[in-house]
Amino acid sequence: MRKDWIAGALTVCLLLTGCGTGAENTAEAARSSMQTNTEEPVSREIFAMDTYMIITAYGENGQEAVDAAEQEIDRLDALLSTGSADSEISRLNAAGTAQLSEDSAELVSRALEINRGTGGAFDITVYPLMQAWGFTDEAYQVPSDSTIAALLEHTGSDQLDWDDDSNTLTLGDGQAVDLGGIAKGYTSGRIMELFDEYGVQSGLVSLGGNVHVHGTKPDGDKWRVGVQDPENSENVVGVLEVTDCAVITSGGYERYFEQNGTTYHHIIDPSTGKPADSGLSSVTIVSADGTLADGLSTALFVMGADKAAEYWRQHADEFDAVLIADDGSISVTEGIADAFSSDQSFEIISRK
Ligand code: ADP
Ligand code: MG
Repeated sequence: MRKDWIAGALTVCLLLTGCGTGAENTAEAARSSMQTNTEEPVSREIFAMDTYMIITAYGENGQEAVDAAEQEIDRLDALLSTGSADSEISRLNAAGTAQLSEDSAELVSRALEINRGTGGAFDITVYPLMQAWGFTDEAYQVPSDSTIAALLEHTGSDQLDWDDDSNTLTLGDGQAVDLGGIAKGYTSGRIMELFDEYGVQSGLVSLGGNVHVHGTKPDGDKWRVGVQDPENSENVVGVLEVTDCAVITSGGYERYFEQNGTTYHHIIDPSTGKPADSGLSSVTIVSADGTLADGLSTALFVMGADKAAEYWRQHADEFDAVLIADDGSISVTEGIADAFSSDQSFEIISRK
């Protein structure tokens, strides 16, 4: 397998140095020169939303586009971060009710839609559970069963009161919300819109390994995005060849702690209040809609392979997925079966 995939922050660099000039025939060379891709791409690494990010844009407005993207990330981070007390979401959580600005309102409305669509597997009201497990401040602990039971009483988006005329969200008793499960997908989607505004035809972002590609590579080839090996983040288990879409992964290996030989990760099953234990070790969603891709990567991870496949059959026009089970076996939905390559054999989930 060629090692020119992109997965995390560092491997994006590899891609840029490894294949930026890869015009292999005359047609490609001609197309390349038309697209001014003899210029070096503008690439910037930043730390935001608690993770490493890389923004890359090719072409003449690359610099301006990357500047705008960085500002947008900072703006959304300041709005959405549960880690800073004066973000809009922290103020909502403290006050119990708030009239939300446009982006937060859009995110809440999408979160509620994904919550309903996934039968509650994605739920922004898991935040108090995230706190109880110590994922919000790295004071990791296993909460007692009674603590979890008490918190579960207040878990559920059906206890939220959302007025979409006034964009006012009112939390139920004991509730707090966290948009972290869709914030990065929404952000990468916003950056793709900015790339359009700046006339950037070729670019990509990696927000902590959540990749969103714009157009094609400057030489007209598809982008190659690696799907990380859940067992070893240095390796990829396969590569997706894609254009214009988000490739977003949720995995138990991304954030976790160990206690008495058991691993506890940061994706909470809202029905149990515990880290989801569905038999999957990662879910990668491919979709043109970054917000949906992010929300579904979390939701399908909670659902497990069978329900995830069933969910896909009902929504095959909206997304595709790569599922990696705890035993390492890979399943890929039919829509991206040809776009996915791996040294390992994989099962194809068919429409039936
Ligand atoms: P990451 O943020 O590491 O990319 P995910 O997109 O899978 O990972 O989202 C996990 C984050 O979403 C958690 O850190 C937490 O803030 C929140 N979260 C955890 N479980 C759920 C859930 N079932 N529904 C919605 N959000 C969740
Ligand atoms: Mg997610």
